[in-house]
Amino acid sequence: MPSHAMAAAPLPNELDVLVVGAGPAGAAVAAQLAGHCRVALVGRAVQAGRAIGETLPAAARVILSDLGVWDAFAAQGHRPAWSRRSLWGSSEIIFQDALFDPHGAGWHLDRKRFDAMLLEAARSRGVPCLVPATLRSLQRQPPGAPMRWRCLIDRVQGDTAHDPLELSCRIVVDATGRAARVARQAGAQVHRDGRLACFHAWVEPPSHEHAGTTMIESDAEGWWYSADLPDGSCVIAWQTDIDLPEARRLRSTADLLEMAHHTALVGARSRGSRVLEPLRVAAAREQWLDAASGPDWLAVGDAGLSFDPLASQGLLNSLVTGSEAATAVRRSLAGDTDALPSWSAWIGTIRAAYRTHHQHYYALEQRWAAEPFWTRRQQVPEAGIGADVTAAPTSPSARSHSSAGTRPA
Ligand SMILES: Cc1cc2nc3c(=O)[nH]c(=O)nc-3n(C[C@H](O)[C@H](O)[C@H](O)COP(=O)(O)OP(=O)(O)OC[C@H]3O[C@@H](n4cnc5c(N)ncnc54)[C@H](O)[C@@H]3O)c2cc1C
Repeated sequence: MPSHAMAAAPLPNELDVLVVGAGPAGAAVAAQLAGHCRVALVGRAVQAGRAIGETLPAAARVILSDLGVWDAFAAQGHRPAWSRRSLWGSSEIIFQDALFDPHGAGWHLDRKRFDAMLLEAARSRGVPCLVPATLRSLQRQPPGAPMRWRCLIDRVQGDTAHDPLELSCRIVVDATGRAARVARQAGAQVHRDGRLACFHAWVEPPSHEHAGTTMIESDAEGWWYSADLPDGSCVIAWQTDIDLPEARRLRSTADLLEMAHHTALVGARSRGSRVLEPLRVAAAREQWLDAASGPDWLAVGDAGLSFDPLASQGLLNSLVTGSEAATAVRRSLAGDTDALPSWSAWIGTIRAAYRTHHQHYYALEQRWAAEPFWTRRQQVPEAGIGADVTAAPTSPSARSHSSAGTRPA
């Protein structure tokens, strides 16, 4: 691991690697490449308000340590997720205590501070991080040119927009989340499964009696989760298909709370809550690429593969693929022509494992088997999933980190 104490350097106009996207995946790649090649990161500004995606499984401790950010993470005061109560597949409440998890408790994150901590790790190791900035365009250079890409980047500082910045690089890492901006530009096809959306809001619950407990429960048109967060707020989230009638009726946080009152676990926690933020909707369906890499690019985190939130594995996947991508990129820069092409096959193995778990957990819920939300999820596994996946993960550590766990007990 290179020294972490260097000051962030100015952005050169020729790079070995440009990382696009300043979320967990982009920050992880950039931090792991620091000191090994000429790398820089560009990313959009963080959105106002709280951010969804807050449950970090306990297994993340290993990768946070490998990334050299464990101490910084531990000092941030995220809330331990001690237990989980679920109502899934029967009317019996299942209680799971982290005491019986070999990794211990996971966390309910202050997501914005978590992302900022990771980005700071890249910065403090000397990676020029241009944030806020947006990748405007990518142009592939003629075969044989050592600098494979010409990139145009839009910068904004305060209220001032600058002329776009132009730079060249050998490899581009797509860490743009579900936008998969680089992959699409490189010619990859984006595939999406279903219409799952997450309606969510943050509220202040009347008590913190259930702090540290994740609640998960299904209903006729989808499933709920809720968790108390480090700032004292509580996230309430309902996953459903965007075209179903209840989804179309939802307009406000008050509507969401009203619906939640009819549930057992989430309702008990949220009754009497004060609304903190307006209702938001996020795309939550699985998304994948026909190819997650090419000879001069690769996709990490959600850009390469994004999960149904039932998996609760998006962040872990972003950190693991971010870290492993740094190894693949270094091998490629050292002349290994298989390093980037084989990346796509590895992402395929993660997807195959995820699909198996995903189908298993949805199949456990049969109480509303005739309802459209559940009928759509009781289908026979997609033919050929994982059939062409042959490559092993790039390193043994990838094997120990990668996981396709799923929320319910
Ligand atoms: C409803 C919901 C609930 C979830 N809950 C959980 C959970 O409990 N636990 C969990 O582990 N995961 C959860 N996830 C998934 C998790 O949030 C994602 O897996 C994770 O954020 C992916 O990180 P990333 O770095 O790949 O992408 P992102 O976090 O999406 O970051 C991508 C960044 O790239 C930027 N970007 C996009 N285009 C450009 C461009 N052209 N130029 C520059 N920058 C660009 C974006 O603005 C963004 O900042 C959830 C997801 C959803 C939708």
